[in-house]
Amino acid sequence: MVHGHKGVRFQNWARTYGCCPEMYYQPTSVEEVREVLALARQQNKKVKVVGGGHSPSDIACTDGFMIHMGKMNRVLQVNKEKKQVTVEAGILLTDLHPQLDKHGLALSNLGAVSDVTAGGVIGSGTHNTGIKHGILATQVVALTLMTADGAILECSESSNTEVFQAARVHLGCLGVILTITLQCVPQFHLQETTFPSTLKEVLDNLESHLKKSEYFRFLWFPHSENVSIIYQDHTNKPPSSSASWFWDYAVGFYLLEFLLWTSTFLPCLVGWINRFFFWLLFTRKKENSNLSHKIFTYECRFKQHVQDWAIPEKTEEALLELKAMLEAHPKVVAHYPVEVRFTRGDDILLSPCFQRDSCYMNIIMYRPYGKDVPRLDYWLAYETIMKKFGGRPHWAKAHNCTRKDFEKMYPAFPKFCAIREKLDPTGMFLNSYLEKVFY
Ligand SMILES: Cc1cc2nc3c(=O)[nH]c(=O)nc-3n(C[C@H](O)[C@H](O)[C@H](O)COP(=O)(O)OP(=O)(O)OC[C@H]3O[C@@H](n4cnc5c(N)ncnc54)[C@H](O)[C@@H]3O)c2cc1C
Repeated sequence: MVHGHKGVRFQNWARTYGCCPEMYYQPTSVEEVREVLALARQQNKKVKVVGGGHSPSDIACTDGFMIHMGKMNRVLQVNKEKKQVTVEAGILLTDLHPQLDKHGLALSNLGAVSDVTAGGVIGSGTHNTGIKHGILATQVVALTLMTADGAILECSESSNTEVFQAARVHLGCLGVILTITLQCVPQFHLQETTFPSTLKEVLDNLESHLKKSEYFRFLWFPHSENVSIIYQDHTNKPPSSSASWFWDYAVGFYLLEFLLWTSTFLPCLVGWINRFFFWLLFTRKKENSNLSHKIFTYECRFKQHVQDWAIPEKTEEALLELKAMLEAHPKVVAHYPVEVRFTRGDDILLSPCFQRDSCYMNIIMYRPYGKDVPRLDYWLAYETIMKKFGGRPHWAKAHNCTRKDFEKMYPAFPKFCAIREKLDPTGMFLNSYLEKVFY
């Protein structure tokens, strides 16, 4: 019999959202998950499944039953011929990479961190960059889902096709994702080249940058013209790094946190901090090469608030409008970087890239020593610009959108709603974040 705990407090990675679930479960098997759902049905409770708890919003919060998937984290099968791996949805990507390494396999693209689970990254539409690459959920070829009544659906392009189209970006609202089969590629190394540029240069030559590098992205330093361009491309070179541990990590981390904290009393320092750190850390060309997962991901040490919307085109105009807004409102301060990434369109019903190639524009406000920095004006102005350019918000990251917005943003929203209502007629898997999305 599955054993639950009372009195557990859940907090997301950035400690920006938390909750006290009535009961906290860590099932070790499919049967135990089914037991929790049966209890929830009997007692009329809400259920929220949580993976790595990295989402910077309340999407993973609940005051009902919480199911933590950390003990359902095995690699179940590796099909070397098809280059596919089937995993339990609670596996952390950080534990999956060495297993794939052993078999000479890799995922073709990853987000910035790997302390996240397979079920969680597809739940929120996690993405990286590379205009020929889709969001991570496009690597899913099959999954199994336990619905509110305890039934298990096997979903793929050929089985329960419509549920599959919905469940690859599931928001945690369709049921418990039990297993996921991922299409891999042969293991590969990447070379990362980082070099300085300007906003004008990168925007004038966007097409050429996109052609030059498979995984191109850039960082813009608000309150300045400075840009850092990052190319990541396949290489045969052995692992190497020209980054300086002392400057890039030690000084960068401690000094930045201290200066950002100081700027909470003197906000006018933020522009200066952005320019100073660009000069200190980003004016030198740097090259690193390593196994793909070691280049795609990095250790993110700063707790932060973020927003990240996907717009279909007109990257230049949207970014210049954001810059103009900051220039017109000197009291609105913006931490660096604004990270700009590019992603191929797909056919997943609630993917922010549904039916369109997209540009993601991630804005950030750090929390130096855990202190919140005012961000509302920046956030609202950014959201207004993103909406104007047809944007769709990242599901994991806090936004102010409601059902009315999503109906306009997503042509397939009614279809997703119909599937959700059929699979979960009583709304067992809803929480307050999801109620804003669906009601
Ligand atoms: C430092 C940092 C860096 C990040 N970098 C990126 C990035 O580069 N690109 C990007 O797109 N995002 C990024 N994110 C966001 C992150 O990828 C997403 O929040 C992702 O969903 C986190 O996975 P998780 O396992 O922590 O999911 P959680 O936050 O635990 O859950 C996310 C959603 O999935 C649901 N869920 C999880 N597992 C299951 C399951 N088995 N069954 C049903 N529902 C489930 C939850 O209920 C919730 O709705 C970053 C976040 C942080 C903190």
